[in-house]
Amino acid sequence: MEGVIKLLPDIVANQIAAGEVIQRPASAVKEMLENAVDAGSTMIELWIGDAGKKLIMVVDDGSGMSPADCRLCFERHATSKIKQTDDLFRIRTLGFRGEALASIAAVSQLELKSRRSEDELATMVRIEGGKFISQEPDTHPVGTTISIKNLFFNVPARRNFLKGNNVEFRHVVEEFTRVALANEHIGFKMYNDGKELYHLAPGNLKQRIVNLYGGHYNSRFVPVEQESDIVNISGFIGKPEYSRKTRGEQYFFVNGRFFRHPYLHHSVLKAYSELISESSFPSYFIFLTIDPSQVDVNIHPTKTEVNFIENQAIYAILHTAVRSSLGRHNLTPSIEFEPEAGFNEYFPKNREIRPPSITINPDYNPFDSQAAQVEPRKTGGSPGQTSMLNQRGWEKLYEESAKERKQNDDTPGTDETDADTDRQEAELCESKLFQMHNSFIVTSIKSGLLIINQQLAHQRILYERFIKELVRSSPVSQRLIFPISITLTAEDMITFSAMAGILEKMGFHYDTDQETGEISFSSIPADMPHDTIETVIEVLMHEWNEEREPGSSSGQAARFSKVLANRLSVKTGTPLSQPEMQALVDQLFQTEHPETTPGGKQVYIIIPKSELEERFNK
Ligand code: ADP
Ligand code: MG
Repeated sequence: MEGVIKLLPDIVANQIAAGEVIQRPASAVKEMLENAVDAGSTMIELWIGDAGKKLIMVVDDGSGMSPADCRLCFERHATSKIKQTDDLFRIRTLGFRGEALASIAAVSQLELKSRRSEDELATMVRIEGGKFISQEPDTHPVGTTISIKNLFFNVPARRNFLKGNNVEFRHVVEEFTRVALANEHIGFKMYNDGKELYHLAPGNLKQRIVNLYGGHYNSRFVPVEQESDIVNISGFIGKPEYSRKTRGEQYFFVNGRFFRHPYLHHSVLKAYSELISESSFPSYFIFLTIDPSQVDVNIHPTKTEVNFIENQAIYAILHTAVRSSLGRHNLTPSIEFEPEAGFNEYFPKNREIRPPSITINPDYNPFDSQAAQVEPRKTGGSPGQTSMLNQRGWEKLYEESAKERKQNDDTPGTDETDADTDRQEAELCESKLFQMHNSFIVTSIKSGLLIINQQLAHQRILYERFIKELVRSSPVSQRLIFPISITLTAEDMITFSAMAGILEKMGFHYDTDQETGEISFSSIPADMPHDTIETVIEVLMHEWNEEREPGSSSGQAARFSKVLANRLSVKTGTPLSQPEMQALVDQLFQTEHPETTPGGKQVYIIIPKSELEERFNK
C-alpha cells in the first residue's frame, strides 16, 4: 500500500506559516518596518491604503539587496541575520526567523524594488499568492521599496476576519509608533490614503515623543535612568498628575524592540502606588539594555512577549529606578498635600484658564431650562477649584429630583429659586433613609428591609438617561458660554474623528484644529458635568477602539451609555446627604429596570420581614 504522508507544497506551507506570522495588516507593517531598520536606513516611509487592506508600502534608503537576494529573501527561513544557532539567542537585530517576507508574499500581491550602492541597476520582483511572477532590472535609488497590495486576497477566511478599518488602522499606527519610538535616530514618515500623518525627524527620544504625541507632552514626563550589572534602564516616565483613566502610553523596549511584560508593568505601577488613584495608569517609555543571552524572545509567535532569566532582579531594579526618579523630581511630596489627588489627573496644572470676557454665546438663554447653567469658575479646571468628579452630578440629581417632586406635589408657596428651602423641605419629609458605610442606602419598606447599593443604583439611573439621550433624534445639549478645550494626540485624533457621528448624536458640538489636536467644545450633552469632558471623551475613545464587530448604532449607544454610566456613577464610599439619597432612590425607581445594572448586577436586595422575624425566633 502506498504511504499517505505527503510533503506540503511550499506555497501551502507558506500560507500556513503566514497565518501565524501575519494576522492583520499591522503585522506586515511591523515586519517590513523592522526589516528596513535592520537594513541600516536613515529614512523610512510607510504608505497605507484602506487601513492596510489595499496597500502597505515601505520605502527605505537602507543597504538594498543584490539581484539574487531579491529573489532569495522570499524563501522560507531565508535570512541574512542568523548564521549559526548561537545567534538565535542574540536579538541585536530585530527579525531573525527569515519567515516574514515568505509569509507576506504568500498572502498578497507583492512588488519589491531594491538596489545596493555598488549596483548600477535595481531589481524588481513580483510575486502573487506565493507564486513567482517576474524578475527584471529596474531603476530605484539605493534602498528598498516593498509594496503589498490586497493582503489576504487569496485567503478570504482571513480577509473576512479582519476588523473594521478604524480598528485595523489603529493597529497599524501602533506598530509604526513602536518602531518609531525605538529608533529615534531614524527619520520616519507615515501616509494614510495619500495624506501625511506623521513626519518624524531624526532626533532624541524626547523629541520623538513630542513629535508623535504633540507639544503638550513636553512637560508631562521626567527621565528615568539606572545602571546596574544586570540591566541598564533609561527612558521617560509620566508625571503622576498626567496618569490616565483608561489607557495611556505604556511602552517597554528591550535592546531596541518593543515588548510586553505584565510582571514588569506591575513593578512600574507599584512605584506609583500612593501617587495616583488605583483606577488610573501612568504613561512610560522605558528602555532596557541587557545582554541578549539573558533574554528569551521567542516565546510568542508575534514576538511581543519576552522573558528574562533574571525577572525578579529586573523587577526590583525597575521599581527602584522609577521610584527614585519620581522622588528626585519632587513629584512625591506635592501629591501628599492634595486631598483629592485621585480626582485631579484630568486637570493639568498648566491648563489655560480662559478669561471670562472673550466668548459670549448669543443663543444662551438663562431662562431655558435646557441651556447650560455654566459657572465660569468651573471651566478653569485647576485642581484647587474643581469639584470632585461626581459632585456636580449629584447636585444635578438632587435638583432634578426635587423639581420633579415639587411638580408632583404641586406644593403652593415655594419659591422656585430657593434651593435652600427645597433642601430643608426635603430633609424634613424624607428622613427615613439611612446610609451605611457610605455605600448602602437602607430603608424600611412595607415588606421588610430595603438595601440599595448606591453606586450600582446610580449606574442604572445614568445608563437609562444616556440611552434616552443617544437614541433621541435631536439630543438635548447644553451650550457652554466658555468653550472647553482638550488636546488630543494625532492617534487619538483619528479615533475622535471616526466617532464624529455618534458624538453629535450625543449632543457634543465642537471645533477641531487638526494641526494642534485641540478640540474646543461649544456644547455637551445636557446631563454631563462640565468637569468630566476629558474623562468622558477618553472613555468613549477607549470603548470605540475596543475590538468588536461594528454593531448597529443602537448597540453602540448601549455600549457607550454603559461605559459612561460606569465612569460617572457616584462611587462606593461617598457620603450622601438625605436629599441626595432621596433623589437617588426616587430616580432609581423611575427607571425601567431598577433591579439590575446594565451589566446585570443586582442593585438592591430586600430582606423580607418574615425572614427577620424568623431569625429572632430561633
Ligand atoms: P528576517 O528579517 O527574519 O531575516 P525576512 O523574511 O523579514 O526575515 O527577510 C528576509 C531577508 O530579506 C532579510 O534577512 C534581509 O536580508 C532581506 N531584507 C528584507 N527586507 C529588506 C530591506 N528592506 N532591505 C534590505 N534587505 C532586506
Ligand atoms: Mg524580518
